[in-house]
Amino acid sequence: MGTAKQLMDNVMRRSKVDAILFWNLENIRYLCGFTGSDGVLIVSAHERTFMSDSRYEEQAQGEIRDAHFQKYKQKVEGVARLLQSLRVKRLGFESSAVPYESYQKLKEKLSRTSLVPLAEEIRWLRTRKDPEELNKIRRAIQIATDSFFDASRRVRPGVKERVAADFLEMRMRRRGGEKPAFDTIVASGPRAALPHGKATDKRMQEKETVVVDFGVRFQGYHSDETKTLILGKPDAEQRRIYDTVRRAQEKAMKAIRPGVGVRHIDVAAREIIAREGYGKFFGHGTGHGVGLAVHEEPTISPRGRGLVEEGMVFTVEPGIYIPGWGGVRLEDMILVTARGCEVLTVLSKDLKENIYAR
Ligand code: ZN
Ligand code: ZN
Repeated sequence: MGTAKQLMDNVMRRSKVDAILFWNLENIRYLCGFTGSDGVLIVSAHERTFMSDSRYEEQAQGEIRDAHFQKYKQKVEGVARLLQSLRVKRLGFESSAVPYESYQKLKEKLSRTSLVPLAEEIRWLRTRKDPEELNKIRRAIQIATDSFFDASRRVRPGVKERVAADFLEMRMRRRGGEKPAFDTIVASGPRAALPHGKATDKRMQEKETVVVDFGVRFQGYHSDETKTLILGKPDAEQRRIYDTVRRAQEKAMKAIRPGVGVRHIDVAAREIIAREGYGKFFGHGTGHGVGLAVHEEPTISPRGRGLVEEGMVFTVEPGIYIPGWGGVRLEDMILVTARGCEVLTVLSKDLKENIYAR
């Protein structure tokens, strides 16, 4: 966690704050190991204090590292008291995570402290994964892969989307996953035009395309991938759209290496799709970081900012969605290496591996 410590020191120096108040639970877990669902972390130049209420006292004392524990009865009051005792004059806080009401109360109680919103400064706190984090991500991917094989016979004509999705989620749990990373998407036929079409009671049919987007959490870390299956011999349009998305995905992956703008990855995918005339049918970004949160920085989109760095893990997931017809999305997770990227997901996204003919 050396890099996180350095980052904290830099943020404190540049923003001229004496301490930073963390409210976001993923950041708190990242910085001190606490896995519960309520608490705050206060990082100052010399010490880190994790605070929570009595429900989490025992758990926190067993889990946290590089921080000591302090209990509060009421969150904001407790935080204010600690900050006063630390004589914090300028307090940085996670402006995207602290609720407005808590901010107001804190401001009232700390009339002599300036509250300094931090957003950009800590936005990329968790983007570069260390080997231990990577191991957890790889385990999550393996669980999802094996579970997909278990469930693959259920992605078939006549089966309800929901039955396939439930079975896949059950297998992910059974194989050691904590829980699905999100509600599993099984969207068939015209429903595949909904990028986030949750599984319904619709039955999958012969010749349909089926988008299956799934992932699992393992020791806090997530996997996320999407396969698109074709239930029968693909027709010309299915082939053309699938091939376009696949080429867009490959082009984006080829563009990945340390030092390129994240936007550039998105452009690489988007160009291929636009050139085939499907530009307006690709409405979302090309990818997102994955780690303690299933959607985290970096954001790989036309508005994405910053440069690709070695150790980042993010998805590459272009798609084409045509209302009334359906859709194709292909999603893999990659790790940025010194010279390019390594595809972490295992299941093949080649068309010939995704035709499920009888
Ligand atoms: Zn996904
Ligand atoms: Zn995704």
